[in-house]
Amino acid sequence: MKVVLQNLTKIFPSRSKKAGEEVIAVNDFTLEIPDGKLIGLLGPSGCGKSTTLYMISGLQKPSGGKIFFGDDDVTDLSAENRGIGLVFQNYALYPHMTVKQNIMFPLQNLKGADKLTKEEMIDRAYYAAKLVQIDNLMERKPSELSGGQQQRVAIARALVKMPKVLLLDEPLSNLDARLRLQTREEIRRIQKETGITTIFVTHDQEEAMSISDMIVVMKLGVVQQTGKPQEIYDNPTNLFVAKFLGTPPINVFNGKVENGTLYIGNDAVLNVGDVADQDVWVGVRPEGFTPDENGGLVCNLNNIEVMGRDVSVVSTHEASVNPIVRSIINTDNKIDGSSETIKYTLKPHKVFIFNKETEERIYFEVK
Ligand code: ADP
Ligand code: MG
Repeated sequence: MKVVLQNLTKIFPSRSKKAGEEVIAVNDFTLEIPDGKLIGLLGPSGCGKSTTLYMISGLQKPSGGKIFFGDDDVTDLSAENRGIGLVFQNYALYPHMTVKQNIMFPLQNLKGADKLTKEEMIDRAYYAAKLVQIDNLMERKPSELSGGQQQRVAIARALVKMPKVLLLDEPLSNLDARLRLQTREEIRRIQKETGITTIFVTHDQEEAMSISDMIVVMKLGVVQQTGKPQEIYDNPTNLFVAKFLGTPPINVFNGKVENGTLYIGNDAVLNVGDVADQDVWVGVRPEGFTPDENGGLVCNLNNIEVMGRDVSVVSTHEASVNPIVRSIINTDNKIDGSSETIKYTLKPHKVFIFNKETEERIYFEVK
């Protein structure tokens, strides 16, 4: 099912009596989600991800804009009638019910033509349980399950009604690191197997990047950029997006452009063609540094962390915004760890420059 959001907006009234304190949780959000895709909705806490999801689910009413499922305007349709499955961060299973009863629960209230017999409900519950690989745990109570198993039950419960759209709100936050990794791959597998259009909300960029067909980056209720994970990583539209994606994060420096040359501090690092003279933010991805005796960027070498195939070089530079500059270097490059400085040339396509005030990207042509 294709999902279309058209100028979707949510304004919460101010909690105090004072005027002008309302919160614009979601501001003019427009997006077309193709049928059968997994969309990662990504941004820091408070940026409006959950509010967006709840409007799509029907649990919250938009202040403005429209929502379409396929060609149908569902903006005024109640949550029960939208055919969605919803999984929350706190999966809240019924503690007195078995896994099977928990999964079957959403089927009990189906009415009219949708009403199912007991056997049909059990079949459906097993179908959903098999998808998330918990069909061997059907007679257990939630208290007899691990966190990861409980989350699978919650996902099965969302799948049992065979939803047209699956909405997941930070579904992995309560799991430990290893389980988070495993479960996100599970979610991707289930999504591909069922072909259900899925919106996956997370504040974890790595999580979103790893499983999404497309990601949407939000900040303060406003969509910053939409695209394939790799495209956004390679081509961020502003400093916020550049900083939000990537581990280790992008290195940010105070810089300037003078006569077509980009400077980091006083170090000339790159030719940027006809960009006008100005102060800029310079972002350099960790993989954008090449150790080079003749390189223009001179950093003070702190230490070298061995990671196997690569090393992570920790250094400092007076123009760096962060306390350290981190580069990831292939071990084919021999680095003298006893040296006090390390010199780099920069890979032009790993360097982004941004307007110092607006933080919007300034594009340059590599000569
Ligand atoms: P996220 O899920 O990205 O962390 P939310 O969508 O929960 O963000 O919240 C977005 C903004 O809307 C926040 O500033 C939050 O405080 C505010 N907000 C969310 N729900 C309500 C509400 N029911 N009443 C008032 N403000 C709310
Ligand atoms: Mg949230």
